[in-house]
Formats: sequence, structure tokens, C-alpha cells
Amino acid sequence: MDNRRRSILIAAPALALGLMATRNASAQAKVTEADPTATALGYKVDASKVDTAKFKQFVKGSTCANCNFYKSTSAAEGTCAALGARLVASKGWCSAWVKKA
Ligand code: SF4
Repeated sequence: MDNRRRSILIAAPALALGLMATRNASAQAKVTEADPTATALGYKVDASKVDTAKFKQFVKGSTCANCNFYKSTSAAEGTCAALGARLVASKGWCSAWVKKA
């Protein structure tokens, strides 16, 4: 299975979870690591804290800032389409990461 197909298969459930989260969260709310959807995706505010043994798909240098779901709102944070357009840290990461096109 190529990486792009794998990324789509990983991202699809995340998008569904993100859409559900949208219903329960106001726009621009910050995602915390304790958030159930974020926890399910292994979201970390600091990508250097990712459990790389658990998330073997982690690519060194990948962060929210270079993820296709990310839209910057400032140097420190931006919205994540996979997490209901809520704010995530630019230096964060989760298992739904897809390289920015
Ligand atoms: S890595 Fe991508 S999908 Fe995951 S929280 Fe960051 S912006 Fe969202």
C-alpha cells in the first residue's frame, strides 16, 4: 500500500471524528491532549513528545504546521480540519498527519 493511500485511510476516520467534534465545540476552541478525539489520534502539542514506538508512521520533522489539514492563524497555532476546525499548536502532531500538498 503506498503512503498516500495509507494516509487517506488513516485520515478518513479522523475527519469523521473531527466533524463530530465540530458539533460539540465552538469554532476556534483549542484542542488539548486530553480531548477524546485528540487522544484517539495521539495528538501532542509538541511533536517531539510523540510516542514514536506507538506511532510508527511518525515522520521526523512532521508537525501540524506542515500538515495538509492545518491552516495557520498565527505563528503558534492554526485550525485543524481533522479536529473540527479547532485550534492546534503549529508544533503539534497527530496520527492523522498528511503532508501538506
Ligand atoms: S497533524 Fe494535522 S491532522 Fe493532526 S492535529 Fe495537526 S493539523 Fe490536525
